[in-house]
Amino acid sequence: MSALTSLRAAAKPAVADFDPLHWRRDFPILGQKVHGKPLIYLDNAATAQKPQSVIDAVAQFYSQSNSNVHRGVHALSERATAQYEAARAKVRDFLHAASTCEIVFTRGTTESLNLIAQSYGRSHLRAGDEIILSHLEHHSNIVPWQLLAEQLHLDIKVIPITDTGELLPGAYEHLFSPRTRLVALAHVSNALGTLNPVREMTAIAHRHHALVVLDGAQAVPHLPVDVQELDCDFYAFSGHKLFGPTGIGVLYGREALLAEMPPWQGGGDMIRTVRFSGSTWNELPYKFEAGTPHIAGAIGLGAAIEYLNAVGMDNIAHYDRELLGYGARELQRIQGLKLIGTAPHKAGVLSFVMQGVHPHDIGTIVDQEGVAIRTGHHCAMPVMERFGIPATARASLAFYNTRADLDALVAALGKVREVFR
Ligand code: PMP
Repeated sequence: MSALTSLRAAAKPAVADFDPLHWRRDFPILGQKVHGKPLIYLDNAATAQKPQSVIDAVAQFYSQSNSNVHRGVHALSERATAQYEAARAKVRDFLHAASTCEIVFTRGTTESLNLIAQSYGRSHLRAGDEIILSHLEHHSNIVPWQLLAEQLHLDIKVIPITDTGELLPGAYEHLFSPRTRLVALAHVSNALGTLNPVREMTAIAHRHHALVVLDGAQAVPHLPVDVQELDCDFYAFSGHKLFGPTGIGVLYGREALLAEMPPWQGGGDMIRTVRFSGSTWNELPYKFEAGTPHIAGAIGLGAAIEYLNAVGMDNIAHYDRELLGYGARELQRIQGLKLIGTAPHKAGVLSFVMQGVHPHDIGTIVDQEGVAIRTGHHCAMPVMERFGIPATARASLAFYNTRADLDALVAALGKVREVFR
């Protein structure tokens, strides 16, 4: 569990000419003032901002191509279908999946994980089977498994985390038993930023004949992801954290697994034939896309991926590491500030607490300085419990953030210190 091969960019030298300000100009929302101060947006883990090309793609769809997909023979419907399916092909390439039939559009990471639990889980797991999760999961990768465990009488086992926010070395493999069927893990933790060694962990799970579900919500915005290299069985992410629209997400699943899974939701588009004596299902991936999908959302996500391809995910990964290192060093200079999550391999997230100040007060004061961060439990209450804190303040980065943004955060935290002397 030591080497982090999933961060492929790590081996390459830093990209000296990466210019975040060049790319930032493409994000119209970032040009505004908040409370009379230039907006410094550091809440990217909650949702990322959208480049003009994504906004244009969505507007263009509604103004020129709006129509329902797959069912029409008229020109607009054919155009909408072509654009929707082209977006699926972009997602396939982005994840380096083998086929578009492995790419299911969902509402987001949460829906993707619930789909796996309810479709795969209900049809393949039995009472007494075991699922392994980690202590740093988002609620979206805990609660669907708890619901399934209640329904089927399964056992959930949890990989502990260390004081730095890493999965406890060695603890993982001891959790396996002959009844372990599935491991569900965050690729990157949203509360701590920890980048888990998911490739190595997947190999271990497969040695124990367990499937691996990866929650990639916080990984895809920061590093190149190759599902075939990771060898995972399922991978989930949300469009809105990847600079695309809200309400659209992705479930990648190995074709052989998706093919034998039953539909999750029933309705139009997911069927081949419907009779009162029984219905048959459409081919992949449509079997899992009941009802009219978020067509504009998928097209917007495709535009976001095209944009990221132009920026370069390798560049983004390098830059993220540099910026994260700078932010961690600067924040640690602040008296009474403690970083929560100091794993050596991280992406995108700086979580912290300040002695004598509630995180919500930190968030409110820095907001007055134009700095947007998030405070709370970040939908990871077990992480808060593990560190014995109710909440953290969290600055989360995107490639359009700069050192100057982090300096502005540090200055704003100086104001917090003045108020809570
Ligand atoms: N997993 C992780 C690691 C996340 O950060 C989030 C969003 N905060 C989710 C799952 C859920 O994503 P969504 O709300 O877009 O479904």
